[in-house]
Amino acid sequence: MALCKDHFNEWFLQHTASTIKKFRMVNEGDRILAAVSGGKDSLGLWDALTRLGYAVEGLSIQLGIDAGSQYSTLSMEFTRKFALARGLILHELHILQEYNETVPEMFVRSHPGDNKPCSTCGLVKRHELNRYAHENGFNVLATGHNLDDEAAVLFSNNLTWNTDQLGRQFPVMEERGKFARRVKPFVQFYERETTAYALLNGIEYIEDECPFSSGSRTNHYKSILNELENDQPGLKYQYFQSFIERKKTGLLKISESQLYEEKFCKQCGQPTSSADLCAFCRLVKPQN
Ligand code: SF4
Ligand code: ZN
Repeated sequence: MALCKDHFNEWFLQHTASTIKKFRMVNEGDRILAAVSGGKDSLGLWDALTRLGYAVEGLSIQLGIDAGSQYSTLSMEFTRKFALARGLILHELHILQEYNETVPEMFVRSHPGDNKPCSTCGLVKRHELNRYAHENGFNVLATGHNLDDEAAVLFSNNLTWNTDQLGRQFPVMEERGKFARRVKPFVQFYERETTAYALLNGIEYIEDECPFSSGSRTNHYKSILNELENDQPGLKYQYFQSFIERKKTGLLKISESQLYEEKFCKQCGQPTSSADLCAFCRLVKPQN
């Protein structure tokens, strides 16, 4: 589409609003917390939701990924600047202060010899976002995942037929126990569209990627899908959309065994697939 700035913004906000409505992401009285990393998608999401009239507060997690890059420090700076300029409420959570270790340190201790901390990092982010939302009265957690992110996850789960993950993948995951409802209002936008929104609206964001993202499997799948998309424009949208539509209408039924087993961690109370402690509580050092 060739649109001027005003018409692009109009289209973008309308499309965001219709995604929220279509998947019933937000109800009246909900308290929404946006997970913000300082990147274009999460800051763009916070901006768009605010413009649509939602009172959204942000949460930034300082992971401590700073060695050689200052990635976490810069991410926090961009986020603070964004919130300050718009008078928005930003919450900050510093993993080092909470657990006496940064995420890379937790990873090195728990996975000696490995060099990619992404699974540890993902676990910490998921757990801490939920914990913070629950402890502070937010029942909706909004993230900036876009179509490119979701298509890459779907591709990865397809390759291994990971039915639990496929069962979980959806633009909205309902609240349960101490889990806030998770919503992804940008899930129908290509990354180039969320980038255009950020650029057109003067959103300053961290352009550097996390130093651990280079050579990641997700990036590899994204480039494969981009090649396919170049040959067949619209394919990525079609691929993800038809998966979601089939799930929505019940045509595609996938085991959600782990997700809906009602087990809760004995220490933190968050839902878990294990019988005793959740993976996060097993990861962190005992606190005094
Ligand atoms: Fe964490 Fe990996 Fe993402 Fe870096 S690339 S922020 S380590 S999940
Ligand atoms: Zn736990």
